[in-house]
Amino acid sequence: MQISESKRLFAHAQNFIPGGVNSPVRAFRAVGGEPLFIKKAEGAFLIDEDGNKFIEMINSWGPMILGHNHPMIKEAVVQAMEDGTSFGAPTAKEVEIAELIVSMVPSVEKVRMVNSGTEATMSAIRVARGYTGRDKFIKMEGHYHGHGDSFLIAAGSGAMTMGNPDSPGVTKGTAKDTLLAPYNDLDAIEKLVAANKGEIAALILEPVPGNMGLCLPKQGYLQGLREICTREGIVLIFDEVMTGFRLAKGGAQELFGVTPDMTTLGKIIGGGMPVGAYGGKKEIMEFVSPAGPVYQAGTLSGNPIAMAAGLAMLNHLNTHPEEYARLNHVGELISDGIMAINKKLGHNFTVNRLGSMYSMFFTDNEVYDFESAKHSDTGKFGKYFQAMLHRGVYLAPSQFESLFLSTALTDELISKILQAHEESMIEIF
Ligand code: PLP
Repeated sequence: MQISESKRLFAHAQNFIPGGVNSPVRAFRAVGGEPLFIKKAEGAFLIDEDGNKFIEMINSWGPMILGHNHPMIKEAVVQAMEDGTSFGAPTAKEVEIAELIVSMVPSVEKVRMVNSGTEATMSAIRVARGYTGRDKFIKMEGHYHGHGDSFLIAAGSGAMTMGNPDSPGVTKGTAKDTLLAPYNDLDAIEKLVAANKGEIAALILEPVPGNMGLCLPKQGYLQGLREICTREGIVLIFDEVMTGFRLAKGGAQELFGVTPDMTTLGKIIGGGMPVGAYGGKKEIMEFVSPAGPVYQAGTLSGNPIAMAAGLAMLNHLNTHPEEYARLNHVGELISDGIMAINKKLGHNFTVNRLGSMYSMFFTDNEVYDFESAKHSDTGKFGKYFQAMLHRGVYLAPSQFESLFLSTALTDELISKILQAHEESMIEIF
């Protein structure tokens, strides 16, 4: 594979951009080699600056659920641009998307649009604190909620990948209000709650975490959290930045039948544009300024181009349930295929999947939390990543990420992915 133009750009970029990239995992540090600079994307494919073509398995880390450059979204964006790119004033599209989100996501009665998942989670925690008058919140080890200070404590995703889940720059004062718990352990939550009685504003988690690789909630776990939070007056926040509109049109909360008090959203909600949102019960969201006293704002929030892309995406998903059936089928074909090949080759690696999200861990152990995820052999993952890339399949460049499949993956492409998997596994073992 010829990658001279990507190499040139990466070397040049490092003169002007820290580490040469605008988000750490993109640098491929955890998997060796150098990042590919992407020129364009179409359907199920990414094309780099050297003209190499790759089958997409991460889809911009989740947003491109229908594949890249979908004509419907492109048309919506181009049309919106005819009217101007930003007004900094209310628009009809913002009302339309808010109404649509409220109709799709069970917990959301009112919603505020922001520009990223990070903004959504930071704002949700502030609102929960304002609403309860309490300072502390519970976060799960290995879960990632963006790069807000109070979340960079035992954080998953890039922070875990780069070996700094507790980032320098987060003050002790901030960190002391973030209480940590292992995922999938209700007893640990009971202990934290008892030790901090009446002081916990919120419990935030990824209901189906993708940021330590994909893990699944144990039976009754989400329900148990709901009961504890209700009993203790704690605001339960589902961070559905990854899972929202992906696992079902109403996200993990619809799938598992557990309704949080607040929900944070991102990725798919913007159809590939920079968008996030947070919402929840009316009585909580009424605390947000100017309805209430908790301040949160944004120059570009509700941007008309971003709203047009998001509306096109959400309207389509809302009216095409068959997309979810297809996503599930694609996920099943790939994960079943991988497990069958592994078995044939004498491996028993753990594959976690839900719908169109999955991770293969290089360990035979069950993976259900931060500690068990760390058993995976990340060196092997790096080799596997490179072997797949050289066969034209673009995976997330870290073990501690989920893959995000799209409806653009045809059965023929899935066969190619599985063939690449088999050849790669033979190469690295
Ligand atoms: N929450 C979750 C669950 C995420 O996966 C991410 C990003 O991957 C975020 C929040 C932060 O979103 P953003 O990168 O848009 O700031």
